[in-house]
Amino acid sequence: MLLSVVIPLFNEEEAFPLMLKRLQATLDQLEEGIRQEIVFINDGSNDATGRLLGEAAQKDTRIKAVHFSRNFGHQAAVTAGLDIASGDAVVVMDADLQDPPELLPQMIEKFREGYDIVSPQRISREGETWFKKVTAQAFYSLMKTGVDKRLASQVGDFRLYSRAAVLGMRGLRERHRFLRGMVAWLGLKEALVPFQRSARVAGETKYPLWKMVRFAWTAITSSSALPLRITSFAGLISMLGGFIYLGYILYVTFVTQTTVPGWSSLASLQVLFNGTILLAIGLVGDYLARVYEEAKDRPLYVVDKTSNLAELPQVEGALWLPERKNPSDVRRVA
Ligand code: UDP
Ligand code: MG
Repeated sequence: MLLSVVIPLFNEEEAFPLMLKRLQATLDQLEEGIRQEIVFINDGSNDATGRLLGEAAQKDTRIKAVHFSRNFGHQAAVTAGLDIASGDAVVVMDADLQDPPELLPQMIEKFREGYDIVSPQRISREGETWFKKVTAQAFYSLMKTGVDKRLASQVGDFRLYSRAAVLGMRGLRERHRFLRGMVAWLGLKEALVPFQRSARVAGETKYPLWKMVRFAWTAITSSSALPLRITSFAGLISMLGGFIYLGYILYVTFVTQTTVPGWSSLASLQVLFNGTILLAIGLVGDYLARVYEEAKDRPLYVVDKTSNLAELPQVEGALWLPERKNPSDVRRVA
């Protein structure tokens, strides 16, 4: 069997050498029959990652490298990895050793039992702030109850995909990607493997708070129309409230006849309804913007150059620029 390991890289010059060493050591210890390839996606790094990757690819022919033309984001990088990987089993992991390569044999074992998806589940998270832990927990519960109950909690993008699962994922080409949601949507047989998530070995997280918030929003809106429905529900509730209030107005006007200039009630009604309407319009606008972006149908990523890649994959929604000269090789004509 062929095992592919897919790793996205964005400014990982510090973690890359450490990670490569540990990964190679683990792969070398795997049993004889397992052929291997390592697919790295350089997601527009602007540090030494690209150079280090090029050098590593020359030394180790298992390494296949793809360099994006700019930063397209983690989810796009993993997508490219799944497009390129030709393994019978494909494992996606982080470059910072938060996802231990030593878990590979256990994951392969589950794969051999016939599972299409093997997801390591974090039973503990080291080196993360309590804020990140609490918000992550809240996010998982919200996603599970409101969006998709098939989502496993405390499972990130560290995962083994069978060939069938990879082909399934290649069929889903939406621009706003939440891979976990897409995996759950496919509905394949999934095994969970518990593990302790350690801290990043080097470098800083590429997911600061604002990116996490944006990611969470994409997760929710790309997997469900729940926010739209919440708005309609809120609209319904405030309308009901409005009718009850109308009853009260009619009562004080015609029965008790104690009406006073009702400026305050009018004003508060205004504020209430204007708020609801604006919120609803905003939400509709957000979905509309997403539909617009999907309708443009641009590729998910642009590949600038590759190393050790024999043939380009036949997938939709990806742009592969042809081989060409490196600017440093081009001599200027005065
Ligand atoms: N990454 C990427 N593109 C990005 C951000 C991150 O390819 O725009 C890579 C990064 O190099 C790492 C993985 O995605 O291998 C996960 O990122 P990180 O470890 O910073 O996220 P965290 O584990 O803190 O959520
Ligand atoms: Mg990480």
